[in-house]
Amino acid sequence: MQRTLIGELGQHVGETVSISGWVDVRRDQGKMVFFDFRDRTGTVQGVCLPGSPALETAKEVGKEYVLRVEGVVNKRPEKNAVAGKVNGDIELEIKGIEILNPSEPLPFDISEDTSGIDEHVRAEYRYLDLRSARMQKNMRLRSEFIRRCREFLFKNDFVEIETPLLTESTPEGSRDFVVPSRLNPGKFYALPQSPQQYKQLLMTAGFERYFQTARAVRDEDLRADRGFEHTQVDIEMSFVEMEDVMNTVEAMITETVEAMGYTIKEKPFPRISYKDAMEKYDADKFDLRTPEEKEKGVLAYAWVVNFPFFEKTDEGGWTFTHNPFSMPIPEHVDWLMKGEHVDEILTTQYDLVCNGYESGGGSIRAHKPEILEAVYKIMGMTGQELEERIGHMLKAFKFGTPPHGGIALGVERNIMNLTGETYLREVQAFPMTRGGQTAVMKAPKPLSEKQLAELHLAITPDATDHT
Ligand code: ASP
Repeated sequence: MQRTLIGELGQHVGETVSISGWVDVRRDQGKMVFFDFRDRTGTVQGVCLPGSPALETAKEVGKEYVLRVEGVVNKRPEKNAVAGKVNGDIELEIKGIEILNPSEPLPFDISEDTSGIDEHVRAEYRYLDLRSARMQKNMRLRSEFIRRCREFLFKNDFVEIETPLLTESTPEGSRDFVVPSRLNPGKFYALPQSPQQYKQLLMTAGFERYFQTARAVRDEDLRADRGFEHTQVDIEMSFVEMEDVMNTVEAMITETVEAMGYTIKEKPFPRISYKDAMEKYDADKFDLRTPEEKEKGVLAYAWVVNFPFFEKTDEGGWTFTHNPFSMPIPEHVDWLMKGEHVDEILTTQYDLVCNGYESGGGSIRAHKPEILEAVYKIMGMTGQELEERIGHMLKAFKFGTPPHGGIALGVERNIMNLTGETYLREVQAFPMTRGGQTAVMKAPKPLSEKQLAELHLAITPDATDHT
């Protein structure tokens, strides 16, 4: 018999159906056995009455067994109906049970919020953790957020293009994860800290509107809201100024979160300069919600603009605050080109803040080689070193690269805002532990002698001391 989804059982009262799913709850009352069955669409109560040919099997199965169950959909007696609950007014009178796969007792209870369970136990059995209602909700919400962003972008003429994972180290400001090359002994790839340079090259290539839900990998200190890997909705557009990118992103976010049933505190999103934000909130991320709005899950977005382009390094030189590929604001291009008033030069960077988190950031880019060169000159990089670092970008900009700019929205940060979760691990399917161990699988781990030899790698004794 064809499978009926549990969420659709209400349409089949009086009929014999077959459902497939998990045993959520089992209550053995001796003569009868009660169940709650669960599939991706919901739960339903099942009852195995005395005399049912399935009673023997019903007594054998336990929680989280996977079953195919045949039965008749009955209306529940009025007094037993659970008002306001999907399938609260029906139950399945069980006629047959086929065990598709039994389950050992679970290492922790997944019928409740699992956030209090030991992090390592949750990580080891992440696939069970993900079965819990809260994690199912969070992952489905994440999927919907990305889907709606994607739909908006397609509707607005963007092209989805993937960029390489094995690439060159980028000057994004964090440490790289590196991958040894078997074919090129002693040489290494880096995993992308962002698709920044490739997306700019796609503007040179004439795509004009690019996006990607891209994975970015950074070897940073781990925090509640920061892991080694994160996903970003990565966007780049040609022939634009700050306003154009900000307006596009604002429209995308508004359309997406409102369609998901959320309320935005203020539209258009308020804009505040970095200087004013620091004076008012002593931070460039701030929470504009009242306690009552926090309670209601309101989303308070704001743009922060007019960041300083450069900051002093410990050695007394200059480095970029956000992104070395940015353009200064138009009034300050001249200062940049002359290397004057460096501390006063403002960048075209725009950060999107929501409920106290930075949920996105981007800028208009330097699209002419001499502007990018001037940025690096201020940071003390010229000649051969410059050529090695960004020679490929300077070259590309000599072949008709249009003015362009873009942004990246952190998917996890956005989902944390939508769900109210405060830990990254609650919104990623397979997050790492705080110690950098992967979920379920056991990385990082040593390589075999054979693999090391193939990669021309030797491990120094002090490294093995730590393992
Ligand atoms: N590359 C930047 C980042 O990953 C975003 C951007 O400027 O588009 O943070």
